[in-house]
Amino acid sequence: MTNTDTADAESTALQVAALAEAGSQLVRITVNNEHAAAAVPEIALRLRDLGVSVPLIGDFHYNGHLLLANYPVCARELSKYRINPGNVGSKRRDENFRIIARIAADNGKPVRIGVNWGSLDQDLLTQMMDANAAEPDPLPAKHVYVEAMLESALRSAELAQSSGMPRDGIILSAKVSGVPDLVEVYRRLAARCDYPLHLGLTEAGMGSKGVISSTAALSILLVEGIGDTIRVSLTPKPKGDRMEEVRVAQQILQSLELQQFNPQVTACPGCGRTTSTFFQHMAEDIQTYLREQMPSWRSRYPGVTDLKVAVMGCVVNGPGESKHANIGISLPGTFEDPKAPVYVDGKLLVTLKGDSIVPEFLQILDDYVERRYSTLAVPIEPVHA
Ligand code: SF4
Repeated sequence: MTNTDTADAESTALQVAALAEAGSQLVRITVNNEHAAAAVPEIALRLRDLGVSVPLIGDFHYNGHLLLANYPVCARELSKYRINPGNVGSKRRDENFRIIARIAADNGKPVRIGVNWGSLDQDLLTQMMDANAAEPDPLPAKHVYVEAMLESALRSAELAQSSGMPRDGIILSAKVSGVPDLVEVYRRLAARCDYPLHLGLTEAGMGSKGVISSTAALSILLVEGIGDTIRVSLTPKPKGDRMEEVRVAQQILQSLELQQFNPQVTACPGCGRTTSTFFQHMAEDIQTYLREQMPSWRSRYPGVTDLKVAVMGCVVNGPGESKHANIGISLPGTFEDPKAPVYVDGKLLVTLKGDSIVPEFLQILDDYVERRYSTLAVPIEPVHA
């Protein structure tokens, strides 16, 4: 999701393009006021001019029914609308919700009904809490809270369908910020409906806390077959990199072997055998090099996302790990001969020495990718051992 002011069409289009280039397959933008709604057509136009075709999702709260009705080009340009049923008004909640659903149906757009426990429909929650309290054996409050989230999502889906939305145009999400709670909410939601589900740990936080919490929550659900789209919500540092959440989301899917986005680099953690920082620099250089090449490799070399590269700190596990990769290098550990054997497709191709191990290895990597993934691929033979 972008964090630019949507009314600033230029900045928003550039950030959408950057997120798409980082690998985001859907990008959500907030449409929070008339200026933002008016800017959506220009954002879409700028993206077309940049050759970016990523679907744009409009995030609506409080006034979505007005903005979508008053800005029909905005409604047409967006590929999906996200509606939070807790934020569509209080007195005219259902009526406002129906307006959005009808506009979506008229424009042939899907909607994501996104419940969030930070903005849960308070009337529904109070009703369910009161009913629970009147029971002879009341359930814990948290159980009722989760039930209220599910009820809000499922009732809203019914309301959308009764307003003209096709069933297959509805996606549900029910986000909370705690890992065990998220797992419980989605397991219960998945057991109760067959709508596609969008997963995300809301307000996951900053840095490693956000990355690890999101990974833990999403991995459990994805391994169980729950979830159709995902978002990782990370709080960036001031002027931080917004693309980080895309990279984390991709890595979750890639680590679970659900979808490949980039070549996988296996690197050992290093130990007392690698006292210099040369090994860490090389592992980072190779990872960065692969990431930089991917935008052009992806189109030139179909299947290159399956490439596996091993960068190992010494020969203890290096050759073994290299043989499991397409291409691998084992650097010389402390007190070892200053040699770096390179394995390609399980066979020793060459042993590199001297100060230019990194550029020579990158050249071998380039040659391998060219030969293996271009349409003119020919087998690579060892040149010497
Ligand atoms: S491969 Fe070598 S350097 Fe890497 S962790 Fe194992 S022993 Fe240490």
